[in-house]
Amino acid sequence: MEIEIGPLLQERGASDPVKLEKEDNLRPEDFASYHFPEPVTFEGRITSESGGILRLEGKLHLIWEAACDRCLRKVRRESVIDVDEQIYPEGYYTDSRHFTAYGGEDVAGYEEEEEINDPEEVPYHNGYYFSPDKLFSDLAILNLPIGVVCSEDCPGLCSVCGRRKDDPACHCDEEAAKAPGPFDKLRELL
Ligand SMILES: [Zn+2]
Ligand SMILES: [Zn+2]
Repeated sequence: MEIEIGPLLQERGASDPVKLEKEDNLRPEDFASYHFPEPVTFEGRITSESGGILRLEGKLHLIWEAACDRCLRKVRRESVIDVDEQIYPEGYYTDSRHFTAYGGEDVAGYEEEEEINDPEEVPYHNGYYFSPDKLFSDLAILNLPIGVVCSEDCPGLCSVCGRRKDDPACHCDEEAAKAPGPFDKLRELL
């Protein structure tokens, strides 16, 4: 997807709606055990700020699938991500004129800004178009939860038979209780 931004850059404060639909077919690549079965969608605005910077705001909707950490069942969830990203003119971080915008000789402030915005990671536009595809894919992946469970009370898998512990076919706990063990003598004493 490409957003035409030339006219926006002419006027600070100018704003256009941005809509990415299923038909645009943007699907992030699988990440670790996460999979995106459907294209992501976005609805929001792009606004012209000072210094050729654009601000993209809106909501990114995505559907993702992953395996439950405990029982390995497939989990399918929907996430909505609040997007609020600045898009810089190409070369912004290598063009020294822009650094003065951070307070001229205030080197400390400049370094701080650099830490927040890794020049390799920030999104850029070329003055005419901006393609948000990579940004949307990156945001989708960055916002995936760490650790997925199918439900909070998922009992996990039986370490003996490999079935889910609440599977009626798993009798391993009962069998372990029946089997003679080193604590039987102790149990008799109690
Ligand atoms: Zn589970
Ligand atoms: Zn079992």
